[in-house]
Amino acid sequence: MLRITDILDKTQSYLPAEELEMIEKAYVYSATVHQGQVRLSGEPYLTHPMEVAGILADMKLDSAAVISGLLHDTVEDTLTTQEHIEEEFGKDVAFLVGGLTKLSLISFGSQEERQAENFRKMILAMSADIRILLVRLADRIHNMRTLQYQPQDRKIYIAKETMDIYAPLANRLGINWMKMELEDLSFQYLYSAEYSELSRRVVKSDESRNRYTEEVKSIIRSELEKYSIKGEVEGRAKHLYSIFKKMNEQNIKFDEVYDLIAFRIILDSDNVKSCYEALSTVHALWKPVPGRFKDYIAMPKANNYQSLHTTVVGPYGERVEIQIRTRTMHEWAEKGIAAHWRYKEGRAYTNNEDNQIKKLRETLEIQQDIKDPREFMSNLKLALFPEEVYVFTPNGDVKAFPKGATPIDFAYSVHTDVGNQCIGAKVNRNIVPLRYELQNGDRVEITTQAGHHPSKDWLKFVVTTRAISKIRNWINLEEKKSSLDLGRDLLDKEFKRHNLKFGNYVKSEEIKKIFTEYSVNSLDDLISQVGFGRVSPKQIVNHFLTDEEIKPAEPIIEKVKKKTAATPSLGISLTGIEDVMVKFAKCCNPIPGDEIAGYISRGRGVTVHTRNCPHIKNLDVDRIVIVEWNVREKHAYPVHIKVVCGDRKGVLTEVSSTISSFDINISYAQVETTDLLATCHFVIDVNDLHQLNQVQAAIKQLKIVKSIERIRKT
Ligand code: MN
Repeated sequence: MLRITDILDKTQSYLPAEELEMIEKAYVYSATVHQGQVRLSGEPYLTHPMEVAGILADMKLDSAAVISGLLHDTVEDTLTTQEHIEEEFGKDVAFLVGGLTKLSLISFGSQEERQAENFRKMILAMSADIRILLVRLADRIHNMRTLQYQPQDRKIYIAKETMDIYAPLANRLGINWMKMELEDLSFQYLYSAEYSELSRRVVKSDESRNRYTEEVKSIIRSELEKYSIKGEVEGRAKHLYSIFKKMNEQNIKFDEVYDLIAFRIILDSDNVKSCYEALSTVHALWKPVPGRFKDYIAMPKANNYQSLHTTVVGPYGERVEIQIRTRTMHEWAEKGIAAHWRYKEGRAYTNNEDNQIKKLRETLEIQQDIKDPREFMSNLKLALFPEEVYVFTPNGDVKAFPKGATPIDFAYSVHTDVGNQCIGAKVNRNIVPLRYELQNGDRVEITTQAGHHPSKDWLKFVVTTRAISKIRNWINLEEKKSSLDLGRDLLDKEFKRHNLKFGNYVKSEEIKKIFTEYSVNSLDDLISQVGFGRVSPKQIVNHFLTDEEIKPAEPIIEKVKKKTAATPSLGISLTGIEDVMVKFAKCCNPIPGDEIAGYISRGRGVTVHTRNCPHIKNLDVDRIVIVEWNVREKHAYPVHIKVVCGDRKGVLTEVSSTISSFDINISYAQVETTDLLATCHFVIDVNDLHQLNQVQAAIKQLKIVKSIERIRKT
């Protein structure tokens, strides 16, 4: 069993004395809180955190990482809290232990391959500090080393999780020894028959292989000496799982696997040129196998692995695989991201992400001839700290979302109907608002209700294109539906005014003829154009009238029924909003020239009010948008005016003809007479405020008129 003195021995070479004291303190703490707990092996629980800390110390990680190794299970398995750890060991350690606790609560298990990459990404995203991942991997190494004490089903579950998720993560970080050990340990449990057979055969041929290995090494060595290339030659058996994989992939038997040994030339010089010199020396000595040369120096692997790989025909006609690299490249190949994760010059590493990236870049820039280190860094940054969050579905699948995604985004990713009918969400069993920002590891459940509809407000916080387009689709459809109703209503009325029936025209050839004029393809399109206010009903009815009928008729002096729907807008442009249905508020009936503001009403487009309308002051400020008049063509807007006259017969006719002299239509007129006064109400269609002012001034000139005012409410 590893003792604290062993860990201190490992760390004293690179850590200052006061940090060794902290490690010792963490040991005492961990021993106290884990006291009485035992592992399945029967050993005291403490052996586990000790072994994990030992692995981290071997990797020469900083004191916070080693301490986190000692404490990594305390919050989850004992009465200790993260707050207490912070009091005792500071923020850095508490942050790491907190991250490890969160990770340990998530079980990934055996999942389909398509899910494995998402699980790996989720772990990366949750490892806000790279040390969290390194401790987690060390934890997994020790658990795998002691897997034999687990019951059979747990063995398979954990081994599969290790093979699918943790070994690839070690590979991504470039920590080769960890990747190989995790793979071989998982292999042992997942394919136990193949594993024992393979390990038996590899051991059996050991003696002769050792002789062979030494022979090849010495030939290479003397050849390098001839050309004064200084370096070391290694020959090692490949790890079992890679042999197994090769046999499977190439469908060959063990005896057919020639290159059981991987030979390696590690050059003393850090100059890349020497790698290519060594390569040509080897190629001059033995014939290279065509198509087997790979230049990972010019084109490093995604985890920054660099080396030259070649396969040659060796002294006995067998294939020999040789890797050539500098010492710096070798260091990276073995230890990966942990290679530079060392304590130097007494500076502690912070958990600051930018700082880590800076240090990574510094390390990389030391290496020569990397084509574009920045490109590698941005890839690495993306891989380690993705701009994505990973959350669980209720049945344990993982889904990836852009940062800032909400339960609505989640709902639409499940199904359009789930999104459209979403009325609530639960995260980790607690109800959250729909605008809640999803966090890594959240388990999300959506509550739906049949018949529920999306809200335009959702567009303010959803982030996925899918959700945005689905919500827009729904709103467009809804608006089209209501604009159809409105358009039909307006056309019916307008036709009726001319004693025509719109219904008689809908299937006629005549109406089809005008489609192109309004750039529409169908009658529905035409009707909704009227509903949206892009085409006036008058324009349409004019096509079915004679020239004489189009001329303004005599003022219709009758009681016109109060309009139920607001009049569609024409010639108005809204800043920042396109293609929405625009209506005028009935409370203030704005006309061009009035100062106006728009109010986004739920599912019913924008309603335009005058800025001094008393109603707008009571409305939700968030939904008020800036609107400007943009009059391209003249259109008529209804305005209600009240004219008070001295009682005289024919006042209505006199005022009406004044209005008509401006070529203004009167759509409503009514007179109330008392003993002395006549009060006339008119709804007149004016083009703008200027025209209204003109007509008001003209009416005021009439001797009979006592007062005139514009009534906001119709
Ligand atoms: Mn553990």
